[in-house]
Amino acid sequence: MKTIGLIGGMSWESTASYYSLLNQGVKSALGGLHSAKICLYSVDFAEIEVLQRTHQWDEAAAILIDAARRLEVAGVDFILICTNTMHKLYTEIQAAVRLPVIHIVDATATQLKQAGVDKVGLLGTRFTMEEAFYKGRMQQKYGIDLVVPNQIQRDSVHEIIYQELCLGKINELSRKVYLEVIQDLSDQGAQAIILGCTEIALLIQQEHTTIPLYDTTAIHAHHAVKMALES
Ligand code: GLU
Repeated sequence: MKTIGLIGGMSWESTASYYSLLNQGVKSALGGLHSAKICLYSVDFAEIEVLQRTHQWDEAAAILIDAARRLEVAGVDFILICTNTMHKLYTEIQAAVRLPVIHIVDATATQLKQAGVDKVGLLGTRFTMEEAFYKGRMQQKYGIDLVVPNQIQRDSVHEIIYQELCLGKINELSRKVYLEVIQDLSDQGAQAIILGCTEIALLIQQEHTTIPLYDTTAIHAHHAVKMALES
């Protein structure tokens, strides 16, 4: 079995989901007492959040590159960045190590293509919903069209992530807000919704809506388990 490297802590609430999903995946594939081989480098999210908010992306990249290099030295076989947003720095991080860094958009787009979805709604942080690093890769590399919430909705979706989900707070009212946004995106022609922030599945699960959901945390973790078990 290969060893999975995780750059986590963004936030630790979702890194805990990764840890659990990776171990469940290996256990269900191999049975018994089997569990995933994982090496985790977990950052202090308070430091990262300030760098994001103040657009100090080079400083944020330096922290994540350092984490990736430490994982490489520790002997992992490949790396996951356990956040959609920080894939903004994917190119710099991948360039700094020899190991493959598994892009969350590639894993998600592969599943969407398999399901025949070519128009999809996107929920995530403002960075993810608004900038080209995420939507561009989906559109240009995979031909998948993205529908994003309007400005007011994007602000609420973003604030709920940082003020609640990253702090482990699950609020019924926020779930209602998200479900309304999801319905709106579906009304605009989205065949499915990408939960494009690794904490969203803590709030919204498939049982809350009939619109198909693609949880990037579960998809990324599932992809990693498959890679770890490949010979
Ligand atoms: N975990 C989040 C994501 O998937 C948001 C936190 C962050 O900014 O990294 O985008």
